[in-house]
Amino acid sequence: MTNKLYLDDAYMRGCVSTVVRKETGTHGDILVLDTTCFYPEGGGQPCDTGTIAGHRVTHVCANDGEVLHHIEGRCTDRTVECMLDWDRRIDHMQQHTGQHIISHVIFRHFGAETESLHIGARHSTIDIPITELTGDDIRTIEDEANAIIREDHPIHCYVVRTVDIGKLRKAPTVGNDVRIVEIEGIEKTPCGGTHCSSSAEVGLVHIPHWHKKGHCWRIEFVCGLRCLTLLREHGAVINAMSARLDAPPSSLDERLCALKEEKEALYRRTQDLMRQRARLDLEKALHDAWNVDGVKIVSASYDEVERARELARLAVTTKRCVALAATCSSRGATLFFASSKDSGIDVRDAMNEALAPIEGRGGGSMHFATGHGPAGGAMPEALRRAWKVVAGER
Ligand SMILES: [Zn+2]
Repeated sequence: MTNKLYLDDAYMRGCVSTVVRKETGTHGDILVLDTTCFYPEGGGQPCDTGTIAGHRVTHVCANDGEVLHHIEGRCTDRTVECMLDWDRRIDHMQQHTGQHIISHVIFRHFGAETESLHIGARHSTIDIPITELTGDDIRTIEDEANAIIREDHPIHCYVVRTVDIGKLRKAPTVGNDVRIVEIEGIEKTPCGGTHCSSSAEVGLVHIPHWHKKGHCWRIEFVCGLRCLTLLREHGAVINAMSARLDAPPSSLDERLCALKEEKEALYRRTQDLMRQRARLDLEKALHDAWNVDGVKIVSASYDEVERARELARLAVTTKRCVALAATCSSRGATLFFASSKDSGIDVRDAMNEALAPIEGRGGGSMHFATGHGPAGGAMPEALRRAWKVVAGER
């Protein structure tokens, strides 16, 4: 059984320990110490990292009362100096204590217990089994949690033999000795994690996102210095947008809505112009078209894929017409073959014949087929072959 210093004093940043057992791991040794300040992963709180005898501690986990420290490299010392990555630990303490406060406020309002906690590297989450959670609820939870923080309630952790479960927010999961975390004047709850010594040390809590997750609502929260980090990140994004859009932050939403409307209007205008251009293209092409048994066969190539596609689309609704449209770029040749319903021509036959020279693949329906192949230089040959098939079908 390892003596777990973090349970008695969460502010112990280091200790001197004796190695009582050593295993050989894949990337380094796994050490069991007589006493440790390293919190092992558990209860939603990630493990501590730091160094042991100068070796980086990569992972810490608990197993049957022992704490296993995974380190980089091989450790030959018997007496070792342990040092926590303190920034990481105090951050976890702020998130974990903040979670207690948020969970307490939620319990007070909704009577719902927190089902699970996950402290992540950027943000943390809790799952609450309730059916409704509005934006106003979230603001209330934030306000009340931050009020508890400002009131600076001392926080104590202690072990009790017997516990009156009725006085706890949450029922303990262990049988005999129960470790209680008490936020003075607020609540008592069983927990084995590391916590701040007063609510004020949490600094601030903020809930940036929340969403439905199964039968629960998942609440994403940040506490302490993470709030400052988030504020800075959001500030940088807003300032960059403000500069780019040449608008103060207060009118960014209005400016973006106007830009979106402008974009949609431009899109509609572009579509309209493309259809007009296609009509002119088809008119010109029909002038030079081959007339085979009363069906006009149009063959044309353009620089733009859209232009070729639009011409083919228009041909479908043009009286007794077949269009063989193509485009060529550094990526190869693209073909659009179309026939009007009254032409009786299946353009898939022409497409199959045209795909060979451009080494392409394609498909479609009787009256509209597309194809693409990498051999762009063979596009004229593809159109010639298609033309022969269509003319031959008459
Ligand atoms: Zn806790």
